[in-house]
Amino acid sequence: DAFTAKVSRAKALNAFLVETPEHALAAARAADAARAAGETLKPLAGVPIGMKDLFCTNGVTTTAASSILGGFTPPYESTVSQNLWDAGAGMLGKLNMDQFAMGSSNETSAFGNVISPWRRADGSNAPLAPGGSSGGSSAAVAARLCPGATGTDTGGSIRQPAAFTGISGIKPTYGRCSRWGTIAFASSLDQAGPMARDVTDCAIMLEAMAGFDKKDATSLQLDVPGWERGLSSDLKGKRVGIPKEYRVDNMPAEIEALWQQGIDWLRDAGAEIVEVSLPHTKYALPAYYIIAPAEASSNLARYDGVRYGLRDLPDGAGLQDMYAATRADGFGTEVKRRIMIGTYVLSAGFYDAYYTQAQKVRTLIARDFERAWASCDVLLTPTAPSAAFALGEKSADPIAMYLNDVFTVPSSLAGLPAMSVPGGLDANGLPLGLQIIGRSLDEQGVLNAGLAIE
Ligand code: GLN
Repeated sequence: DAFTAKVSRAKALNAFLVETPEHALAAARAADAARAAGETLKPLAGVPIGMKDLFCTNGVTTTAASSILGGFTPPYESTVSQNLWDAGAGMLGKLNMDQFAMGSSNETSAFGNVISPWRRADGSNAPLAPGGSSGGSSAAVAARLCPGATGTDTGGSIRQPAAFTGISGIKPTYGRCSRWGTIAFASSLDQAGPMARDVTDCAIMLEAMAGFDKKDATSLQLDVPGWERGLSSDLKGKRVGIPKEYRVDNMPAEIEALWQQGIDWLRDAGAEIVEVSLPHTKYALPAYYIIAPAEASSNLARYDGVRYGLRDLPDGAGLQDMYAATRADGFGTEVKRRIMIGTYVLSAGFYDAYYTQAQKVRTLIARDFERAWASCDVLLTPTAPSAAFALGEKSADPIAMYLNDVFTVPSSLAGLPAMSVPGGLDANGLPLGLQIIGRSLDEQGVLNAGLAIE
């Protein structure tokens, strides 16, 4: 029947790694009971959401889409997921992703890639990437399997999948959401954030997710503003910066057109448009692909077969053999590539040439933004240099895949809040996203500009 067909179409997306309907039902029942008792409902009372499999969930398998965490069931709950349950939400399940959040297409998952619910209008039925690394989250929200999902963003993993699937997603200022209980990729960059159908839902979810947590040393000791209450699409008196260095070579005409459309919308909403310069933009991608793997190589040292998940213990093997066999079997190709790059750039002979240099570049990039804020309040750019590509199209060429992050990485290096909102469709009928980058702690400014575009 129609329902069964719907369910099998939904399952074919491969968005969920684990389904937890009882968790979502319990939240729905609690919301019903509160309503019946005449109590004030919590902000997310009964809302069923999807949880990226990077968040540890007490008693529910959590793998970061890697075989090395196969069957790992955390005995604790991440702060972000706990905050969502405290706000009344329930969990539909754990969402597929790029392994350890490394990737831009979801193809590095050990459990099969997610398929975008979108198809090209030209009838070419090639399955499309839902973006990455939060590709299970973007596909699930875009396919209307859940009204919202959590994502994490280290170099664009909330914004690029949101852009590829026509939904909204915000990465808050670094430190707004606790990283406690979120499996680490690159600790100085990792931030959690919501992915949802529109800006208002993102604001509501982010309010629940954010907040100081003494268990995370980099958590910001600040109250969570009332972002939903503060929403306004009136941009009178606001200045929107257009960074000229984001006009990269070979930018497709439709991305240019999308950007111009976004500029027009924000001008219509009352904003003044100004051109700004972020001169070190072109060094952001190489700096990111040094710093993120360096931190990853350190963070992933803990997967040694002793403490979590997979253990390969060949007959007669010693401890070193066990480490080697477990890591050889457990990590995927992209994860191994990052560990090797990371250990290389951190090694004694190369540390100054690569790692120190990348950290200096990171400072210059943060300063570029600081200078830009003298003449504008938010920045507007495209989210990604292309619409969703076909699965397999870039998987043989890591550099081509990394280049897809060109617009999202600079704000990650600077720790700034940044959002992607749907901007329109390309000639093939595929969604394109516009990115808004804000000052540190100005999620409100970002959300409001997003609202004006939406
Ligand atoms: N695509 C980028 C990478 O592979 C970003 C990933 C992320 O933000 N988690 O590192």
